[in-house]
Amino acid sequence: MNKKIWLSSPHMGGTEKKYVQQAFDSNWVAPLGPNVEGFEKDLENYLGENVKVAALSAGTAAIHLALILSGVKLHDEVLCQSFTFSASANPITYQGATPIFIDSEKNTWNMCPIALEKAIQDRISKGKKPKAIIVVHLYGMPAKISEISEIAKKHDIKLIEDAAEALGSTYKGQKCGTFGDFGILSFNGNKIITTSGGGALVCKTKKDKQKAIFLATQARDEAPHYQHSEIGYNYRMSNIVAGIGRGQMKVLDKHIALRRANNQFYQDVFKNIEGITVFTEPNIDYYSNHWLSAIVIDENLTGFNSEALRLYLTTKNIETRPLWKPMHKQPVFKTSDFFGSNVAEQLFLQGLCLPSGSNLSKNQKERIQNNLIKFLKLD
Ligand SMILES: *Cc1c(COP(=O)(O)O)cnc(C)c1O
Repeated sequence: MNKKIWLSSPHMGGTEKKYVQQAFDSNWVAPLGPNVEGFEKDLENYLGENVKVAALSAGTAAIHLALILSGVKLHDEVLCQSFTFSASANPITYQGATPIFIDSEKNTWNMCPIALEKAIQDRISKGKKPKAIIVVHLYGMPAKISEISEIAKKHDIKLIEDAAEALGSTYKGQKCGTFGDFGILSFNGNKIITTSGGGALVCKTKKDKQKAIFLATQARDEAPHYQHSEIGYNYRMSNIVAGIGRGQMKVLDKHIALRRANNQFYQDVFKNIEGITVFTEPNIDYYSNHWLSAIVIDENLTGFNSEALRLYLTTKNIETRPLWKPMHKQPVFKTSDFFGSNVAEQLFLQGLCLPSGSNLSKNQKERIQNNLIKFLKLD
């Protein structure tokens, strides 16, 4: 059997161990230390001016803190993109708040500004203005962020950008994660860079960053003893994993170039195949890191569906995955309100994510291509 080709697996650059070793040598084996601060600095430099970054234990933790800092409380309502991973929406419920899901549009697959506006009007007319909006840059593709920012501003609603999959993606040259009141990043094992597990909250002010770190370290008041006036969390990043992050930052741009090359590879493979579309940027304002490359299959034209292709590639030991199942179709959120039509649902039914790692070798790509050709009966 050929070695398994993964959808997206960790890709170390080589210098990560040096930083981890430094943590051991200086005995900073703790959820604070020079690597945590160094990694935050690296991210701040990378994201651009006027952002402050707090390194945390997970992207999910970052979303939770963003909601708290946005003032989301019990029985509040939060508007959230439906087409996403559950971690975008789960923290809304940690706050005892209610998610309301918003459909996607077809250009970026992300939150539809028209459905968003409709949802806000509806809630305001019912006397309940939503407290926050969570927009996602799915698979690295920037959302229609200028339209969504405008809507958030107009209604004075906090905007949280879930850029877990979009580190390095830009809209009109500005990095994803820096548009909203808060942005969140993830460094989980399969993301564009990984610290094995970890995340970050992108803030606009030093004050918000300090408050985030305060909440992430059990909300200790200033006192020699342990004193608490607020509920805190254990969400800070460890100095060990931050060392991996510092090494990964050195190869981030290279890895983005490789992921983008994967996307081009799939565009070439499927160029003349009727009924298969490779997901790519709608125009030059959008620059995706192409964290995962995905295709949409129109069964009426191809005669097969995405599940048939997925099962075929599985027998060849090539991992693929259906697109995210929309949150409003998840059993756990079945009673939640939803605004929009069937765009996200249709994408879920027709789409497939293909192997996209920055560590895919030339041989592995050939294997993928040959098997696709075989399946499509082109040889
Ligand atoms: C991975 C991911 C998260 C969660 O990040 P963790 O670091 O795994 O907690 C949130 N949102 C999206 C869209 C993600 O892909």
